[in-house]
Amino acid sequence: MLFEFATATRIIFGEGAIRQVAPAALNWGHRVLVVTGGALERANRLREDLQAAGAQSFTFTVEGEPTVDLIAGGLEQARSEQCDVVIAIGGGSAIDTGKALAALLTNPGDLMDYLEVVGKGKALQNPAAPFIAAPTTAGTGSEVTRNAVIGVPERQVKVSLRSPWLLPRLAVVDPELTLGLPPAITARTGLDALTQLIEAYVSIRANPMTDGFCAQGIPLAARSLRRAFYSGPDPEARRDMSLAALFSGLALANAGLGVVHGFAAPLGGRFAAPHGAICAAILPYGMEMNLRALRARAPQSPALRRYREVARMLTGRGDAAAEDGITWTHEICQDLEIPPLKAYGLGEKDVPVLIAEAAKASSMKGNPLPLTPEELSEVLTRSIVGQ
Ligand SMILES: [Zn+2]
Repeated sequence: MLFEFATATRIIFGEGAIRQVAPAALNWGHRVLVVTGGALERANRLREDLQAAGAQSFTFTVEGEPTVDLIAGGLEQARSEQCDVVIAIGGGSAIDTGKALAALLTNPGDLMDYLEVVGKGKALQNPAAPFIAAPTTAGTGSEVTRNAVIGVPERQVKVSLRSPWLLPRLAVVDPELTLGLPPAITARTGLDALTQLIEAYVSIRANPMTDGFCAQGIPLAARSLRRAFYSGPDPEARRDMSLAALFSGLALANAGLGVVHGFAAPLGGRFAAPHGAICAAILPYGMEMNLRALRARAPQSPALRRYREVARMLTGRGDAAAEDGITWTHEICQDLEIPPLKAYGLGEKDVPVLIAEAAKASSMKGNPLPLTPEELSEVLTRSIVGQ
C-alpha cells in the first residue's frame, strides 16, 4: 500500500500556548499584520506582546466569512504597511483570510489571479510570507490545511485558494482561547470538526495516518461536545474539542471529505448560513444515504465496516450498529439546537441547482461512493425540512 501524509506546519498545543506566538513571529519579521475576527481583546493583548518584543503591528478585522473584496482590502493594508509576518487569531474566517493575505504578500497580482473556478487559477509562484494561525474556535482545523475558502458574492459561490504554500508555518492551538465561546458557536464549530472527522474516516482516500487522527478525534468530540455546549468554560471538554478540531484538519487535508462538505461549498455561497451549521444539518442524512447506497451497490466496500466503527466511537458501545451512529448524530444535532436548513431560507426550489453544483464539488470526491442525483436530492430535501 502506497500512501502519503503531508504537513509542513509546526504545531504547539496546550493551555497557555498563545504566549509562544509573539516570540515566534519575531524570528521572522518586525512588521506584523494581526488578522482577527471577534477576538479583538485577545488581538490587542497579542499586539502588546509584539510591541514589548520590539515589533510593530497592525490589525485587520474580519467580519463574517471572507470574500474577494475583503481580501483585497486586507492586501492593500498589508502591502502599504510593508508587513513581513501575518498572524491570524480568530475562527476559521480569520485564519483563511490570514492564509490568503500571507500568500498574496509575496506573490504578484491579486486574489483573482490565483482563485480556482472564478479566477485564473494560476499556481502561487513564491512561498507565502511567514504565517501563524491561532484558532479561537474548535472547528475548522484550518490551522493545518492548505486551502482558504473565499466567498464570491456576485457569483454566489465559495471557492478555494489552494497551495501547499498556504499551510501555516506555525499553528498555536490554545484551548483556553475557546473557554468563553458562546453555546451556538461551540455547537456549530464542534459539529463541523466531527463531520470532518467522520467524512475523512470513511473517505476513499483514508489511509492509516489519517485513520489514526480520526480514531483519536471522533471519541474526543463524542464525549466532550455536549459538555462544552452546556457548561462553557470546562477546561477538559474544551481541550478535547480543540484536539478533535486539530485532528480533523490534519485528516481532511490528507484524506478529503464527502457528501456533507460537497453540499456545504455551493450552499454556503448562496445562503447566509454558517459553514458548521450547514454541515451539522446535513450530517445525519448524508450518513444515512451513504449507508443505504453502499449496501445496495457496494456491499464489499470497507466503508460499511468504517460506519460501524464510527457508531462504536460515537456511542461508546462495542455492539453498536451503523444505524446507531446515525441516531446519535440526530440526537446531538437536536440537543445542540441545530436548525434544519429551511431556517436559512432554503426551499425545494433550490434543490436542483444545489445538487448539480454539489456533484461537481471537490469535497465530494472523497465520498465512499458516487451518489445519484436522486440520492443527492433526497439528502438535501431532508436536511431542508429536518426529517
Ligand atoms: Zn467543514
